[in-house]
Amino acid sequence: MSDSIFEKIINRQIPADIVFESEDIIAFRDIAPQAPVHVLFVPKHRFDTLNDVPDSEALMLGRLMLAAQAYAKSIGIADDGYRVVMNCNRHGGQTVFHIHMHLLGGAPLTGGFA
Ligand code: AMP
Repeated sequence: MSDSIFEKIINRQIPADIVFESEDIIAFRDIAPQAPVHVLFVPKHRFDTLNDVPDSEALMLGRLMLAAQAYAKSIGIADDGYRVVMNCNRHGGQTVFHIHMHLLGGAPLTGGFA
């Protein structure tokens, strides 16, 4: 299986605007932002879709959400609020098959989400 574009970012093979990194998570700005703040939180271990994540990875999924919460607080958007989204497969609009959680905020978010 070839590397996902996010694995290339994790391995520093392609550049990204990285805002957070831990042992098992990396976060970087989305290349096509849909909001003033649009950051992707990505587990370093690849699962193609949310459907592929086993129960044993519950802690990783929790860490992903808490990393987004901590980042939102650190940049001062937490009180106003934000949105976290994980798209799955075609109907969910997933385009990169390495799971990731979108953090969107910095302004009121209307209607749909890309
Ligand atoms: P999704 O549609 O949920 O799979 O989201 C994939 C997201 O990855 C989109 O919002 C893209 O803009 C974003 N994206 C794709 N390539 C890159 C990249 N090289 N650096 C940062 N974000 C990217």
